[in-house]
Amino acid sequence: MKTGKEYIDSLRDLKTIAYYMGERVDNMVENPAIRPHINAAAATYEMAHDPLHEDLLTATSHLTGERISRFTHIPQSTDDLVKKVKTLRAIGQNTGTCFQRCVGMDGLIAVNGVTYEIDQQKGTNYHQRFLEYLKMIQTEDLMVAGAMTDPKGDRSLSPSKQSDPDLYLHVVERRRDGIVVRGAKAHMTGGINSHEILVMPTTGMGPEEADYAVSFAIPADVPGMLFVFGRQTNDTRKEDCQIDQGNAQFGIVGGESLVIFNDVFVPWERVFMCGEYEFAGLLVERFATYHRQNYGGCKTGLADVLVGATLAAAQYQGVDRAAHIRDKIVEMVHLTETLYSGSIACSEEGHKLASGQYFPNPLLANTTKLNVTRFMYEISRLAQDITGGLIATLPSEKDLKHPEIGKYIEKYFKGIADVPTEDRIRIVRLIENMTGGTALAEAMHGAGSPQAQRIMVLRQANLEHKKRLAIKLAGIKEPKEST
Ligand code: SF4
Repeated sequence: MKTGKEYIDSLRDLKTIAYYMGERVDNMVENPAIRPHINAAAATYEMAHDPLHEDLLTATSHLTGERISRFTHIPQSTDDLVKKVKTLRAIGQNTGTCFQRCVGMDGLIAVNGVTYEIDQQKGTNYHQRFLEYLKMIQTEDLMVAGAMTDPKGDRSLSPSKQSDPDLYLHVVERRRDGIVVRGAKAHMTGGINSHEILVMPTTGMGPEEADYAVSFAIPADVPGMLFVFGRQTNDTRKEDCQIDQGNAQFGIVGGESLVIFNDVFVPWERVFMCGEYEFAGLLVERFATYHRQNYGGCKTGLADVLVGATLAAAQYQGVDRAAHIRDKIVEMVHLTETLYSGSIACSEEGHKLASGQYFPNPLLANTTKLNVTRFMYEISRLAQDITGGLIATLPSEKDLKHPEIGKYIEKYFKGIADVPTEDRIRIVRLIENMTGGTALAEAMHGAGSPQAQRIMVLRQANLEHKKRLAIKLAGIKEPKEST
């Protein structure tokens, strides 16, 4: 398995074409906007070598029997599902941000199961192809980015009805040796600093959308691929300061890109679905459930950091013993552990699929992610409430270090006597950045919008069963079914 340094060094060899703020990115590893996200992804490699974490971050490959990264492992038991969640909480606690590698992990897991089922029904050989690919990923310990969300254009129209057919990624040519695809994938977490891109369809498809029902994997630097790296809250702070970034080493959220596929060639051995539209929706649902399972893992790791930061901020300004502060901290912990309970529960209640892999309980996984869309906002609100208005009004690091006015910042932003002003400012900046715009939007829309989870909850809730329970207890005779 790669170390964090080996992962970072391996990125230097990639020829990924990327743009950020109107300029071509020549060296992503040294680019200040991208480097913190690379550091966060590197933690998924480095922590696998730490004796304290290796039991969580590594697993035994069911294909080769070798010790591999959990991020390339297919869950073989409910214990594996639970360890997946615990892994993410542990890395979240150590990075305080999104470490990106789970989208590809969940893509690999979902494609593993669905290719097996396609082959069973259609007599195709996608699964064997995929297993060869997976073996390569496990052995070389590569970072895979999952690419699902298409730009979608007019949401009221299906893929084949769009005025521009490229608004959903699709096959434009089938050749003897492979396919050619065109389109784009949006919001791609960690794509720019991944070795491989695993593409999946974004929604269920009908027969007229067979060209859009496509799944494949390609190296991130193949001809025709182009990344446009997105902006984030406070991103210009990465250019010229450290303290004001809050978490300069690992950044905030994952580092998302728009990825454009300009007639990209994919050899058949890397194609895992091509035209089997009946399975597009299944692949989306499987991927979404595996990724929603995660959110009570990684986000609770972040919430642990936020609770700790808030407590420190309260202490630095002398209010940590106030009853209302303790009460709000307890509320933050309560919300955090409620999220964690959901992820552990959906993992424990997982079941085996036809492929032999384990799948979390989809109702509980979707409920967990739906809770994240609210609870992370509430945890952030409480953090800001306790920290106070200086989240919004603090002068810059440059003022703090200014030869003439620095002494005033030192003097007038001082909290309790034995804590340096700079420490107080550092913790406030961490809270500011962890509870800011992009971080909250990610909690809302990462792994799909709340509405997507509501649809799944409705589908899984078995409301008729609940109604029958009530009717029976109320002594109401159920109407006989008409023949
Ligand atoms: Fe992983 Fe969480 Fe980031 Fe998704 S949001 S990629 S689960 S760290």
